[in-house]
Amino acid sequence: MSIPRLDLHDGTSIPQLGFGVFLVPPADTQQVVEEAIEVGYRHIDTAQMYGNEEGVGAAIAASGLPRDDFYVTTKLNNSFHRPDDVRRSFDESLARLGLEQVDLFLIHWPLPTRYDGDYVSTWRAMTELVDAGGTRSAGVSNFHPDHLDRIVTETGVAPVINQIEVHPYLTNEAARAASHRHGAVVEAWSPIARGRVVDDAVIGRIAGEVGRTPSQVTLRWHLQRGDIVFPKSVHRARMEENFEVFDFELSPAQAAAIDALDEGEAGRVGPNPDVFDRIPEA
Ligand code: NDP
Repeated sequence: MSIPRLDLHDGTSIPQLGFGVFLVPPADTQQVVEEAIEVGYRHIDTAQMYGNEEGVGAAIAASGLPRDDFYVTTKLNNSFHRPDDVRRSFDESLARLGLEQVDLFLIHWPLPTRYDGDYVSTWRAMTELVDAGGTRSAGVSNFHPDHLDRIVTETGVAPVINQIEVHPYLTNEAARAASHRHGAVVEAWSPIARGRVVDDAVIGRIAGEVGRTPSQVTLRWHLQRGDIVFPKSVHRARMEENFEVFDFELSPAQAAAIDALDEGEAGRVGPNPDVFDRIPEA
């Protein structure tokens, strides 16, 4: 199965389907990612905060595949927004991953109520990591339209990616549109709403129509919207299920029925980035 790639505005490209490792226990991560690689995943989404970068790196090394076959993303811990900490923690991520370069480094959360509201100097430090060659691309996560507007206005550099919560119950159109306005591609986190879609009557009906599972239908909906997805599962059968989403299509009417499931703010499975302020102990 060949996974389509999307072009980013810095001249690089990214596989539209990947594998997420949030809540994969560190001790299990190498084995879980090795299985995902066997299934065919080559794009892995981790974060400093997940505590499992070592396992991701070990699985990539154990695969014996060329480094260039992989697309690896990690994200800045909320504890490290000050520019010196961005640089230091980034070097530590590379060491944990056992890589000389990652493909994408993201600010995990904007934290507008922390660091005197200064996520601009954080963003500038991220862009300097691209100039220095440690990461091929820099982007953001959980940025609302006003957060995006501000970093672009103040630095003149737009992120290539905005990774935000998107699924049928939170279609997040304002943040998607602002990302597109700045030329950023959207990555949809919690794409199957942490499993909620499995019991959804509308998605279940469509799954019956196309002969697929609710998870596959939902992932296909994201792909047809042009977003990137990286569902997480520690179960091989589900990894395989979530990977088989490029050989069928939803009709416009089926896609519209899923669009209509949007619950706005009430549909969030995670926190609202305007108020989320958790800083883990470093
Ligand atoms: P997902 O929407 O990917 O759902 C994962 C959950 O659904 C797990 O409980 C998994 O269980 C279950 N599941 C997976 N596949 C299936 C299936 N085919 N049928 C039924 N259940 C299934 O949620 P995540 O929150 O993990 O989001 C995906 C990725 O997005 C994360 O791993 C992370 O990389 C990223 N993310 C980023 C955030 C950010 O702030 N930037 C925040 C949250 C996530 P099991 O493992 O037992 O199979």
